[in-house]
Amino acid sequence: MTNNSIKQNVLVVAAHADDEALGCGGTITKHIANGDTVTVIFMTNGVSSRLNSSTADENNRQSAMKQALETLGVCNYRCFDFPDNQMDTVPLLSIVKSIENVITEFQPSIVYSHFAHDLNIDHRITHQAVLTACRPIKGCSVKKILSFEILSSTEWQSPTLPSFQAQYIVDISQYWHKKEQALLCYQEELRDFPHSRSLACIEALATLRGASHGFAKAEAFQVERIIVI
Ligand SMILES: [Zn+2]
Repeated sequence: MTNNSIKQNVLVVAAHADDEALGCGGTITKHIANGDTVTVIFMTNGVSSRLNSSTADENNRQSAMKQALETLGVCNYRCFDFPDNQMDTVPLLSIVKSIENVITEFQPSIVYSHFAHDLNIDHRITHQAVLTACRPIKGCSVKKILSFEILSSTEWQSPTLPSFQAQYIVDISQYWHKKEQALLCYQEELRDFPHSRSLACIEALATLRGASHGFAKAEAFQVERIIVI
């Protein structure tokens, strides 16, 4: 993204539809504006753990996801069907293999995914599976792995665990409105202020990350790996 002449393949691995918009919606749009190819994969349908969830709920989440991806400019996506909020019931190896297959197919150089110590179990397992699938062996396309922060999960982690470190900052001032539009597609997932997954709080975090580094709006990531060749 820093060099406009080199187009990159970017992979976003989200546990649930809305994590891509919450965690890196502005950065996705910025990559696309730079001519990069962005693929998003979703690990679960995001609703089946809910009380009385129905096929209609699943379809609603799917159509919200499609609208959000269209808003962000993403054409490539794939949905896996691991059990929502129960990814710990699936052997890690099958999750890793599904991500490895996507990596082999799309050869991303940058991967964005969840923070290791989020409160949400699917986020934690997705993180673990991504790091395993991206083992830095000879021939691996992945040179950069960045973890995003998801409000109402990253900041709700146990205080005994290491906190998210905002180490890698992407200026999304120009792209905030796209992120906001994508979030509005997931109206069902947003909460009223003062919940931390309210639009007001999501904007406040983007403003804090931005203004802490001299921008109007930013998204912050923790660096898991950067390999320079
Ligand atoms: Zn999630």
